[in-house]
Amino acid sequence: MYDLIILGGGPAGSGAAVYAARKLLKTAIITNEFGGQSVVSETIYNWIGTKEIDGMELGNNLKDHVLSYKGEYLDVIEGEKIKELIKENDSFSVVTESDKVYKTKAIIISTGSSRRKLEILNADKYEHKGITYCASCDGPLFADQDVAVIGGGNAGFETAMQLVAYCKSVTLIESGLDFKADKITIDKISENPKFKSYKNVELLKVDGEQFVNSLTFKNKETGEEQTINTTGIFVEIGQTPNTSFAKNVLDVDNFGRIVVDSRTQMTTCPGIWAAGDCTDGKYHQNNIATGDAVKALEDAYIWIKNK
Ligand SMILES: Cc1cc2nc3c(=O)[nH]c(=O)nc-3n(C[C@H](O)[C@H](O)[C@H](O)COP(=O)(O)OP(=O)(O)OC[C@H]3O[C@@H](n4cnc5c(N)ncnc54)[C@H](O)[C@@H]3O)c2cc1C
Repeated sequence: MYDLIILGGGPAGSGAAVYAARKLLKTAIITNEFGGQSVVSETIYNWIGTKEIDGMELGNNLKDHVLSYKGEYLDVIEGEKIKELIKENDSFSVVTESDKVYKTKAIIISTGSSRRKLEILNADKYEHKGITYCASCDGPLFADQDVAVIGGGNAGFETAMQLVAYCKSVTLIESGLDFKADKITIDKISENPKFKSYKNVELLKVDGEQFVNSLTFKNKETGEEQTINTTGIFVEIGQTPNTSFAKNVLDVDNFGRIVVDSRTQMTTCPGIWAAGDCTDGKYHQNNIATGDAVKALEDAYIWIKNK
């Protein structure tokens, strides 16, 4: 029986694990993999205390920090995905996809979120055949080609910025009336002759042969349809929280995000806390995820010791 099991090895889970080990709680951290979402970022400029860091390096640093506490108090279980949480009388069972069961008094959920998928005609057919969710990973495959980016938030514009450096052209498509990205981010690329954008459009379909070769959309106001030639479609339309395994024991909001008390990060199920991008917190960033996880750990520690 553990005092605490931490689910997820991103900035939130790693932060909770370091604090838990230092407080000598009998803890396990169970994660599919370490690092979290921003491992695919070329450079992160706002990880406080570090002016610039490659996303992969940040992920490796988090893992190294956790592993430095592995031992009597901290078990590190990597490569396991959580399937289900079961609430028992005075404890919980954490069940993984390989049907291993771990017992614990308390849980911190920090399983973050994953990319929202493009859901238009033929999108599933061309996933990984031109449709991609990671410019840093796949962008160079599209050097000197015409590509499209779906989504006009910061992630969409940052993706366009990366791609415009080596692609022939980048067309950014936003379904809303306005871009949601920060002005400073939009301004950086807007004057680039290789960059073009459309707002207020509805995406209709992806076409191609073995791989994508075009994207069709229509102007929501005029109804005019347009097809552009593109061999790559980079999707940046937001996130879906990784919380399906928890919904039977606690409350989630309409988007599947875990409802927490923002003072303590406690969920609606006593004994379970949540932190980072899997929660209904208003803002999601690396520093926030780690800070929230520390808050959760401090509260869980008092709860466990008073049990
Ligand atoms: C491309 C990109 C760039 C970004 N750039 C920045 C930036 O520059 N600055 C910034 O502050 N923020 C940035 N962010 C946001 C930042 O990455 C997130 O806010 C942060 O990663 C959230 O941390 P987290 O620990 O809550 O979740 P995540 O980072 O999502 O980590 C979740 C962890 O849980 C694991 N996991 C998920 N489901 C399961 C399961 N069922 N079982 C077991 N383990 C599971 C995952 O493997 C992962 O280890 C960026 C995000 C993206 C996508």
